[in-house]
Amino acid sequence: MKVAIVNLSEIVSGDWRSPFNAGDTILIDDNHIQSVGSASAAAVEQADIVIDADGMTAIPGLIDSHVHITFGDYTPRQRTVGYLESYLHGGVTTSISASEVHVPGRPRDVDGVKALAIAAQRCFAEYRPGGMRVLAGSVILEPGLQRADFDDLARQGVRLAKAGFGAVKSAYDYVPLVADAKAAGLITTCHTGGSSIPGSGAITGDHLLAMHPHVSFHINGGPTAMPDADFERVIRESRIALQVCTAGNLRTALLCARLAVQHEAFDRFIIATDTPTGSGVMPLGMLYTIAHLASLTDMPPEQSICAATGNNATVYGLDNGFLKAGAAADIVLLDAPDGGTQTSALAAIKNGDIAAIGAVITAGTPRFVGRSRNTPATTRHARVVRSNAIQDFAAAPT
Ligand SMILES: [Zn+2]
Repeated sequence: MKVAIVNLSEIVSGDWRSPFNAGDTILIDDNHIQSVGSASAAAVEQADIVIDADGMTAIPGLIDSHVHITFGDYTPRQRTVGYLESYLHGGVTTSISASEVHVPGRPRDVDGVKALAIAAQRCFAEYRPGGMRVLAGSVILEPGLQRADFDDLARQGVRLAKAGFGAVKSAYDYVPLVADAKAAGLITTCHTGGSSIPGSGAITGDHLLAMHPHVSFHINGGPTAMPDADFERVIRESRIALQVCTAGNLRTALLCARLAVQHEAFDRFIIATDTPTGSGVMPLGMLYTIAHLASLTDMPPEQSICAATGNNATVYGLDNGFLKAGAAADIVLLDAPDGGTQTSALAAIKNGDIAAIGAVITAGTPRFVGRSRNTPATTRHARVVRSNAIQDFAAAPT
């Protein structure tokens, strides 16, 4: 299926070093972006579906790199069904599991944690809730896991490993586990800050620097922050990705953002929500953190969006997160919220407002066009002005 999005006022690229694409049109061919910028009338004419953006801003679909996936579209922590589909209405087109630690009665033995990660990976390999891509299956690092176990997991399609909830005596006991998981090619992630649930301990700068995982999960605290002095150490003395989360400490999220810019470490500065947790289900969490960073620091709004899109894609090796030819066609149309003081999506975000979403497209398929059920209404009105597609847009694989 070919889709054309026309009449865009701004196109945010996802690349913070070059955050805007010129032009007003995006062409999609099946699952991928065909071109970004301008298109001939003939090319638009050939599209099966034409969406008139009415002057809205296109951004890459948001990538939430810290979601507490379990199985299906269900969170046991908040006993809520359909939360992932609801996040899609907050612009999140990809959710990455923070490990399936919320599965009730989760296993803690070697065979059990391996089985849990493999089962979660399999469950979401084809299943897209509401059209969202879910990267699930993150093995919870427990004592006893050996290099051969990580090789086995990698061969089975598991890509992620998580330190922070195992039955270790000290967080330093994660050092050989993280090293073995990395050697097997897994992306390693680590809880950071004070303990979030009974039985887990604080993890601070010394632990992170000893482990050197790929990603410091909620470096701003999940929800309790590590000492302020540790932020600069982790930024200067490592290559660890700096994940700031909505459900964390806002003050240290801003501190980390300023330090990442100051020390030229913004490539590894990434945004996530760390939800659903005790903080709740937060469909607009990514938009809140984007707005907090843009309105409470000097960061331009487009740079904040790139931290939620292209930066996450690069850290996790995904094929989306950028609006460029060849990337997976995950696209969100943003606008100033109706009734606000600003006239564009980016100005609204800089003002601290939650941008309004006018359309979400994933894997080249429009999931809705017109009105998100979670954001404020848009000022402009995106609509499908032509469709030759004989299909029901709800007919995504389930
Ligand atoms: Zn978490």
